[in-house]
Amino acid sequence: MRDQVSVYTNKLIADRSAHAQGIAIAAQDDVLIAGGAPDLARLAGDVLSRLTCLGMVVACPSLPFADFLVARAPAGESCIVPRDTETRTFLHDIPFLRRSDLGADPAPVIARLLGSRKGVVVEGVGIVASGALTVEQAYINYSSVFHSTFVKYLQDVLHHGFILPGEAEAFAAFRSQWLRPLTDEGLAFRSGPLAERDEILDEIATVGRYTVERGLVDSFFGNISCRAGEVIYISQTAASLDSLAGCIDPVPTDNSSTFGITASSELLAHRRIYEATGAATILHGHPKFAVIMSMECAEEGCAITDCWKECDRVRFLGDTPVVAGEIGAGGLARRVPPAIAGPRKAVVYGHGVFTVGETDFADAFRALVSVENWCRGEYFRRLEERLG
Ligand SMILES: [Zn+2]
Ligand SMILES: [Zn+2]
Repeated sequence: MRDQVSVYTNKLIADRSAHAQGIAIAAQDDVLIAGGAPDLARLAGDVLSRLTCLGMVVACPSLPFADFLVARAPAGESCIVPRDTETRTFLHDIPFLRRSDLGADPAPVIARLLGSRKGVVVEGVGIVASGALTVEQAYINYSSVFHSTFVKYLQDVLHHGFILPGEAEAFAAFRSQWLRPLTDEGLAFRSGPLAERDEILDEIATVGRYTVERGLVDSFFGNISCRAGEVIYISQTAASLDSLAGCIDPVPTDNSSTFGITASSELLAHRRIYEATGAATILHGHPKFAVIMSMECAEEGCAITDCWKECDRVRFLGDTPVVAGEIGAGGLARRVPPAIAGPRKAVVYGHGVFTVGETDFADAFRALVSVENWCRGEYFRRLEERLG
């Protein structure tokens, strides 16, 4: 268990989602243990001891966006409601506590909120996330809250500008220091066609690690596959993309077998993308600027309210098509294949990016980088236009 504390502390530092000095992790084993920053560890232990779940992460996010969302929220509101798919699917909404609501002992009220949600934003403290059975789940939920508040804040700034003192400065620091140039430079890819089982498994694991290391995806939100003959090798659902060894399933290209129970929930979409494109590899992840820009629809007077799943139009971000559609057997598996066939890349509304490679992962990876870079550039172009 002590191990878990250092493993997930290091993950939060590596993905730069939390301040190194502001991380605490608690786990309920035979006894409750809590480690990390002393104040936060005490809070993590106090909250966890009130819950039936077994893991907890309390950390101060590396960006002040969650606190800004709380401070920008109208009086009387008590939760943040991001519109991206990760939030819809995993979090529903994100309750928050204002500094003024905390009192001498905030643990009971945080525990009460975590009774029905996976993560809470506590103003001035950080993100508190629980895991039903493991610390890993608490880490995933922390990542999800970090991702969703990042997306939501950047959207809000694009629509409403800066409101609070200090926001413009913090945003400038985010842009010049936290954000890093996104590139595929220096990465080595095996040249295709990839045919041998072992080289495919190894290459998928390597490319998975690249996507996380280059900041294209949060480790648990995305999937990767490679087709060789009648077999699709695909990452398992809920597998961490930076440690895929042993978490890749071979499944037949046709629908005949009952395989695919552990395989990614997006297996059906991958199958249909292979059918429509004849490609050999697929990358899917949730890079933040593509998620943000996919929700910026300029259409006025549109009758559709659930754009993320109902919209039938194909829009474009540069030369990349954007389609709507739910995860799993829903609209995504139906709308992505025809859209991706020509351009070899597509964005799903509020969700993420799919790219394909012709014989190996090099071109798929380059396409993923270029879509996110285009969206990042377009975001700042529109923001500057807005701010004047
Ligand atoms: Zn996804
Ligand atoms: Zn619409």
